[in-house]
Amino acid sequence: MPHVVTQACCGDASCVYACPVNCIHPTPDEPGFGTAEMLYIDPTTCVDCGACVTACPVGAIVPGHRLKPEQTRFAEVNAAQYGANSILGEVRFPVDMAKRLPLAPVATPGPLRAGPQHVAIVGSGPSAMYAADELLRLPNVTITMYERLDAPFGLARYGVAPDHTATRAVMHLFDDIARHERLRILLGVEVGRDLTVDELRARHDAVFWAGGAATDRPLGVAGTDAVGFAAATSLVGWYNDHPDFADAQFDLSAPRVIVIGNGNVALDVARILTADPTGLESTTIARGALDTLRRKGIREVVVVGRRGPREAAFTLPELIGLVDHQDPTIFVDPADLVGVTADPDNITEQEKLALLREISQRTYTTEELARPTIRFAFGLAPAEIRTENGTVSGVRFARNTIAADGTATPTGEILDIDAGLVLSSVGYHGVAVPGLPFDEQSGVIPNDAGRVVDGDIPVPGVYVTGWIKRGPNGFIGTNKTDSAQSVASWRHDVETRSGRLSRGN
Ligand SMILES: Cc1cc2nc3c(=O)[nH]c(=O)nc-3n(C[C@H](O)[C@H](O)[C@H](O)COP(=O)(O)OP(=O)(O)OC[C@H]3O[C@@H](n4cnc5c(N)ncnc54)[C@H](O)[C@@H]3O)c2cc1C
Ligand code: SF4
Ligand code: SF4
Repeated sequence: MPHVVTQACCGDASCVYACPVNCIHPTPDEPGFGTAEMLYIDPTTCVDCGACVTACPVGAIVPGHRLKPEQTRFAEVNAAQYGANSILGEVRFPVDMAKRLPLAPVATPGPLRAGPQHVAIVGSGPSAMYAADELLRLPNVTITMYERLDAPFGLARYGVAPDHTATRAVMHLFDDIARHERLRILLGVEVGRDLTVDELRARHDAVFWAGGAATDRPLGVAGTDAVGFAAATSLVGWYNDHPDFADAQFDLSAPRVIVIGNGNVALDVARILTADPTGLESTTIARGALDTLRRKGIREVVVVGRRGPREAAFTLPELIGLVDHQDPTIFVDPADLVGVTADPDNITEQEKLALLREISQRTYTTEELARPTIRFAFGLAPAEIRTENGTVSGVRFARNTIAADGTATPTGEILDIDAGLVLSSVGYHGVAVPGLPFDEQSGVIPNDAGRVVDGDIPVPGVYVTGWIKRGPNGFIGTNKTDSAQSVASWRHDVETRSGRLSRGN
């Protein structure tokens, strides 16, 4: 039985280069790579060699015969993308065997046609680590990495949910990179506070900014200053032991929590808040958070989307992981799915809607109904956080109707839902860096393929990668191709001598 890519896939494409028969798609040079929710193995051409299993940093690839019951749905998800064994009968990545290479190409960089280069990287999250890995392939590069926190790896450590142990295992790969003798990591050094960007530029041949998108997108409604309202990020930081949230406290005694926004972070939060705390004991969850979760009074977490189920921001692998792995008591109102049809060219969307339909038909035993439940609600835009004496009492929503093209239009109907805790999970936004240009609107450092630009003018020797380069989207592995692009731009500039800082000029 062929190998199967499962939930933990973070899209770094390592498996693509390991596969001898080129049966994992989309590859980084194929359309759809940037938007794919995971990579997929073509079951008809996989020769079961296992090379991809070793290459995968997060253990996402499983031989078909070893799939656990909660992973079996992924066999169909992989196959559906190729039409093979698919109920959908579509071929997403038609494979011309004649064009197949006997071995997948592995790009190896030639020597750098320039003298020794000392490069600064700001940040130590996934984009920084992948940039370092790419740069260290060149023998005459040394790197100093500056990280403001006392522990490295950014959101791979402080964002990824504690029960996503396979995904968190990517930190082993980062550990390997961090051990490289030409990489020095300075922890507890914040650029902008402890040294300026100009000082950094003066000391290095090039600077890569990989500082991530540090703030939450504001919700923009009244009541967000009330006790009991928080950004989901702070709850994530609290349960992941992020030093910035060491003093955070959450009152989990109320029966209902509302999560506004329905991306993967919202699913993480809903899953952790409804999980049996005993099952979290063996994870890296902060012990204080675990103690609070043991005493929780939560009966229901409502995850609310402004638009419809088709536009839901969570990915299919995460939905499958939630539904099949933890097997929570989870509700979707069948009325929300009436008349909703998937894009016929979008297999992932079709499967997502099919799974939501399946959930909407589920019935539960009395025992299952006694557990904390997750409820998906769609077509509800927050109008106001309701408060009593400065404390959250719920959310007032304006109901939307969703057009076929996904546009949301208010119906005029108002719906109040009571809650003791309201978490906003509507996305992230980068923060401006003194000394570098910044696009307030999109929250990124303006750049051309990773070269920082001020207007149309390149800022010599300064590059950017990760969330602060492209915005807060994609997976951990997406940062690998992103960083490779920025490093390729730097290399081109160094070799044509257009990217050196004033230090050596
Ligand atoms: C809650 C959450 C859960 C997620 N879960 C998953 C998941 O399960 N699977 C998945 O594939 N992806 C997940 N992601 C996405 C993934 O974490 C991101 O794609 C990735 O972390 C972005 O990498 P980055 O390096 O750009 O930013 P970050 O990971 O944010 O790293 C930025 C680093 O720069 C440091 N820094 C910032 N400013 C400075 C400064 N001035 N000086 C020095 N250091 C600085 C920060 O401290 C941080 O360590 C999740 C994201 C979030 C928010
Ligand atoms: S098992 Fe071998 S042939 Fe199959 S996807 Fe993995 S590397 Fe490719
Ligand atoms: S995480 Fe990377 S190596 Fe593993 S399956 Fe996904 S793309 Fe392939």
